[in-house]
Amino acid sequence: MVVVFTGGTGGTKLVQGLQQVVAPEELTVIVNTGDDIEWWGLFVSPDIDSVLYGMAGLLSTERGWGVEGDSFRCLERMKRLGQAPWFSLGDLDLATHLTRTAMLRAGKPLGEATAELAAKMGIRARVLPMSDDRVSTMLDTAKDTLTFQEYFVRERHQVKVHTVRFEGAERARPAPGVLESVAAADAIVLAPSNPVTSIGPMLAVPGILDALRTAKASIAAVSPIVGGAAVSGPAGELMKMMGWPSTIAGVARAYEDFLDVLIADRADEVEASHLNSKTLRVVCTSTIMKSMDDKRALARFALDACATPQITGFAGD
Ligand code: GDP
Repeated sequence: MVVVFTGGTGGTKLVQGLQQVVAPEELTVIVNTGDDIEWWGLFVSPDIDSVLYGMAGLLSTERGWGVEGDSFRCLERMKRLGQAPWFSLGDLDLATHLTRTAMLRAGKPLGEATAELAAKMGIRARVLPMSDDRVSTMLDTAKDTLTFQEYFVRERHQVKVHTVRFEGAERARPAPGVLESVAAADAIVLAPSNPVTSIGPMLAVPGILDALRTAKASIAAVSPIVGGAAVSGPAGELMKMMGWPSTIAGVARAYEDFLDVLIADRADEVEASHLNSKTLRVVCTSTIMKSMDDKRALARFALDACATPQITGFAGD
């Protein structure tokens, strides 16, 4: 079994690649929920939605979030009714949030709601939230404390952050299936997601870090940092705030407790050769994923890096 830990935008691209090279019953996707937000009374789980839409072939390629070809008529009306305008939900996207919210209100845990949504979207691989319990990524700035969406969407990550906290993490339990799949995995991949705000919340849920430390499978991470900067978003800035350099060495530092293989971009070949050591193998390839071929090639490379020949032969559906 292949287990992948992921956030939304960057991670979903690799998950799409893994979907092409791993049989669905052999793939478990564990998703960050620290970005979750209640909006218009609905429970929105942006990273789960990106993963589900990405895996179902529904994701907007242009925006990188939400449903391809969606309209925003409800949003326009909500703005006219005086609702805060900075967080956009598309009309088709709303159906997902309405369905999830109804399931949660009926008492279903987030994991079950996610599994049902995935099945309804035709996804056969397993998609798990990191936890059924609410964990909120909070960012302290000089002025105030922001939720992840306030920081990322409303402030366009242009404010200086002093600390990142994962509210509720200390009481959260890993969702059913998370620890079991990590323990049973033949390969574990950390997608090129933000180490601080996408992978960080998952490692903060008690039990997950220990499961990674004691996993029998090799653990490979694809660097979201290419050529000394994040491909997109605030990962570089937030890593510096954590005291880690905004380089592949910083990514290695973030995952030093359990990482076996770091997959860096060819742009970082020189640094990779310095970082390569007895305890951490650093390998380079093209890690920028634009086409499905890029995604598939990187997914294959990640599985090869975990040295799991029995699962890399799968040619996809
Ligand atoms: P979020 O939940 O929306 O923040 O999404 P993720 O954490 O999954 O992804 C954000 C990270 O993906 C950023 O740090 C980017 O640097 C990284 N990223 C985006 N696209 C690519 C890509 O094509 N290749 C690599 N290596 N990293 C990428």
